[in-house]
Amino acid sequence: MAKIAFIGLGHMGGPMAANLVKAGHQVTVFDLSKEAIQHAVDAGAAEAESGQAAAADKDCVITMLPAGQHVEAVYLGDRGLLANLSPETLVIDSSTIAPETARKVAEAAGERGIAFLDAPVSGGVGGAKAGTLTFICGGDDAGFQRAEPILQGMGKNIFHAGGHGAGQVAKICNNMLLAILMSGTCEALALGVKNGLDPAVLSEIMKQSSGGNWALNVYNPWPGVMEGVPASRDYEGGFLVNLMNKDLGLAYDNAVKNQAPIPMGSLARNLFSLHAVKGNGTLDFSSIQRLFLEQDK
Ligand code: NAD
Repeated sequence: MAKIAFIGLGHMGGPMAANLVKAGHQVTVFDLSKEAIQHAVDAGAAEAESGQAAAADKDCVITMLPAGQHVEAVYLGDRGLLANLSPETLVIDSSTIAPETARKVAEAAGERGIAFLDAPVSGGVGGAKAGTLTFICGGDDAGFQRAEPILQGMGKNIFHAGGHGAGQVAKICNNMLLAILMSGTCEALALGVKNGLDPAVLSEIMKQSSGGNWALNVYNPWPGVMEGVPASRDYEGGFLVNLMNKDLGLAYDNAVKNQAPIPMGSLARNLFSLHAVKGNGTLDFSSIQRLFLEQDK
């Protein structure tokens, strides 16, 4: 059992903190939203008045915040958490942020002798609730070994991608590929349907052929082809277009900095941002299918 502070109790952080309680840890929480704190308290966590108060005297601090600027604001500067943490505290940030921001926080932590791990996740809100997230970690071996038993309370697959920032790099690569696969799958389905094919029959053929991929196999974007996926409930729930856009923006910025060509990723980014400005930002990302249909708004 560890004493854990959990900061950022949104769609992901709320259920993750609840799973840590279930795993037997002593969890103290903080969020800017009183409602989010109350949900965590109902799940068995203790409430703190501030991030500083939550993090005091804990074995581990975990953050799950919207973006890089929130992570910097929480950890850095005179009023940031790192200024007051003891060197024994393990710090894990599971937000999806730019690798260089993760490295900046890791460096600031290192200057105070504090172990830091970037540990972004894959698996979405469903995985957060079920405790089956994939954690993709960046940091040194010692930090990873300390984090692993804690992360196991919230996830199924725990990977060590490399040094500081490597977790974020791997996460960005994965989501860029996902966006490309989803766009390509939607395009192929729309072409087949335009030719009079049944999307369910075409899906089955491609699944058993060389076009098979995750989007087609478990997350079919054509309405009504697969039960239980967002496409079969008007693209509600799931992984939002706005979040995919955020991740594609991180991939693009990273590619520019590293002079890495990402023609497919750039195209996917353009498609998803076009889809978002048409008012689809809060739909599941498989709704990109609509961009390939005649009734697209
Ligand atoms: P969210 O917006 O639902 O939750 C973020 C929470 O952080 C909010 O409750 C907000 O009040 C809180 N917060 C913001 N600033 C704070 C501060 N200074 N102190 C305390 N609390 C603060 O976001 P989410 O969907 O839970 O996503 C969190 C992170 O996980 C993001 O980086 C996102 O990209 C990533 N992610 C999300 C999903 C998903 O499906 N939602 C999947 C994988 C990764």
